[in-house]
Amino acid sequence: MNRKARIAVIGAGNVGIAVAYYLVTQHQATQVVLIDPRDPMSLTSAQSGENYRNWWPHPVMTAFTDHSISLMEAIDTASNGRLNMTRGGYALVTRRERPEDLLRDLDQGYSRSGAPIRLHERGATTYRPPVRTPWQDAPGGVDVLLDRDLIRATFPSYAHDAATVIHVRRAGSISAQPLGQYMLEDLRAAGARLVRAEVKGITGQAPFDLELAGPEGTSHLTADCIVNAAGPYLQNIGAMLGEDLPVHNVYQQKIAFEDREQAIPRDMPFSIDLDGQRLAWSEDEARWLASDAQTARFLQPMQGSIHCRPDGPPQGQWVKLGWAYNQQPGDPHQEDPLDPHFPDIVVRGASRLHPRLAAYLGRLPRGVRHYGGYYTMTRENWPLIGPMRTPGTFIAGALSGFGSMAACATGALCAAWVFGEPVPEYANALTLQRYENQALQAELARLGGGCL
Ligand SMILES: Cc1cc2nc3c(=O)[nH]c(=O)nc-3n(C[C@H](O)[C@H](O)[C@H](O)COP(=O)(O)OP(=O)(O)OC[C@H]3O[C@@H](n4cnc5c(N)ncnc54)[C@H](O)[C@@H]3O)c2cc1C
Repeated sequence: MNRKARIAVIGAGNVGIAVAYYLVTQHQATQVVLIDPRDPMSLTSAQSGENYRNWWPHPVMTAFTDHSISLMEAIDTASNGRLNMTRGGYALVTRRERPEDLLRDLDQGYSRSGAPIRLHERGATTYRPPVRTPWQDAPGGVDVLLDRDLIRATFPSYAHDAATVIHVRRAGSISAQPLGQYMLEDLRAAGARLVRAEVKGITGQAPFDLELAGPEGTSHLTADCIVNAAGPYLQNIGAMLGEDLPVHNVYQQKIAFEDREQAIPRDMPFSIDLDGQRLAWSEDEARWLASDAQTARFLQPMQGSIHCRPDGPPQGQWVKLGWAYNQQPGDPHQEDPLDPHFPDIVVRGASRLHPRLAAYLGRLPRGVRHYGGYYTMTRENWPLIGPMRTPGTFIAGALSGFGSMAACATGALCAAWVFGEPVPEYANALTLQRYENQALQAELARLGGGCL
């Protein structure tokens, strides 16, 4: 069977869906086809922690996520709250007094947006504690708590050595699956089609011939334009077009479990322990870990950035923990490398800031959910959104650990690139063209990559 599509979007994760959504709703595109062999939103998009924030050390990423959050707010409002947006903020915690480097990063990251940064010194009284819902009531900007008494009073469950809390206010959680569903409903209503098939090959120039493998065998589809939104498989689609895309995949994990000990207060914001640490082990444990190269690394100093947050409604009991300490690129064509040690490691690490979590050491409740997925990323951990080298082809991907929060802006930008419409100034730095910009490359090299 031969089919025709003006625009073929490859991948129905939250990114491909958002691209199709903005193609149809903003640009009235017709004959849009979303192609995926899997259920929509079922690969990486199903593994997301569903957190969002506008906190980055560079104003380009701040502008990008601010744009995306505004688009999510518009959809949340239009859909009567289907995104379940909360805005408790991100609380970034360190044991360092007045960490000047982090304060400089804040100034730099928010320099173009003008978001206020409020420092709360000893005896401060103007700080407003977290407001989860309604998100419209939460303040913007950033509060920096430099007073230990204020930190203890506001976040009583934290370990008492917390010396600084950077409370990013335009941050919280969303429900990413309803966001995808909402967009799919509009797409279907506008006549866009979802084709259940894997793209196996692409030949020709615009119009392209796409070879599809679906449940009914091989078929072909002709498209004037292609959007590569294949998540961890961006490279495969790139290779079909003769392009080598500068992306790699790193597997990251999370756990979620029922917090029967009530170790984590339900009103605690998404909290990140920024400080690196060396995990505490008994002598026997240390000997056992040292006997295997895979586990010996847990005896070494570990990086910071452990996440913890209550999950679900205020009256619920679940919590989520994550720690993106893996740095080794992996192969998404292989079986998922879920590490059986991860649950214990993340609980150990997280109990440094949340001491009551230590109750779960060696005795996590049955029913603990341990899951993971690939962060598809560039070396500088910025996404790729815009034209590929082959005329008529575009990329929307490399969204690492921020693709749920950034899907809307990614969709809006990519759709604008497809139609040759203007994009906001920041968006030029998110295209493949940035590798030609030596000054930007030097700046990004200074910032380093890394992911939360
Ligand atoms: C553990 C974890 C926690 C995360 N937490 C957060 C978070 O808190 N906040 C946040 O914003 N982001 C988070 N993320 C990141 C976010 O989940 C991803 O960035 C986002 O889901 C990527 O979406 P995607 O559409 O690009 O990819 P995917 O969801 O992987 O979708 C890609 C789709 O392309 C399809 N495809 C691939 N090849 C082909 C082909 N040849 N033909 C047809 N279809 C094809 C696949 O089947 C797949 O459905 C997290 C990610 C992980 C792994």
